[in-house]
Amino acid sequence: MTFSHDTEQALGTLVRLVNTMPGPNSQVDSLETLEELEKFVQEREFSAVDTLTEKDLAEVRDLRPLFAPVFTTDSDASAATMINAIIARGTSTPRLTNHDGHPWHIHYSRAGASMACRITVECGIALAQVISAGERERLRRCEAPDCDDALIDLSRNRSKRYCDARTCGNRLHVAAYRERRKASGE
Ligand SMILES: [Zn+2]
Ligand SMILES: [Zn+2]
Repeated sequence: MTFSHDTEQALGTLVRLVNTMPGPNSQVDSLETLEELEKFVQEREFSAVDTLTEKDLAEVRDLRPLFAPVFTTDSDASAATMINAIIARGTSTPRLTNHDGHPWHIHYSRAGASMACRITVECGIALAQVISAGERERLRRCEAPDCDDALIDLSRNRSKRYCDARTCGNRLHVAAYRERRKASGE
């Protein structure tokens, strides 16, 4: 494991959040309704979630353009500036918890904080862990020609190039295979 479980969980949440924005590969915004927010929160296994409202939806949507540029920046200094600004927007109150049978781990947002505040603080601090570990290059964009989805490369040798959309990795494998066949004159 590259980072702690909680950090990796928060980074996964962040990638999923950023990729709900419309992009070249899918022009659809997949975080437009309260149902979509509820599904997102459920999939990402947030604990102790209060009833979500339209206000939560608007606030969470507004976080996306703040986080998105962190995946394209090319220096630690600019990443740090962005991440510090993000963390400063939330109220962070670190505390140890062992909810739902998980081993003791730190939550950085206070109990009862809004969903947007939780995402801001938990994902912001997870990003800070990445930068402070000297691992910024693991935050990337998919290299498939018509996709620029955010991705976090947790592979040992930093070899992940494509997002998890099946079309990206697979289609390129197919293209590379055809190229090889053509080159060898088959
Ligand atoms: Zn937890
Ligand atoms: Zn992709």
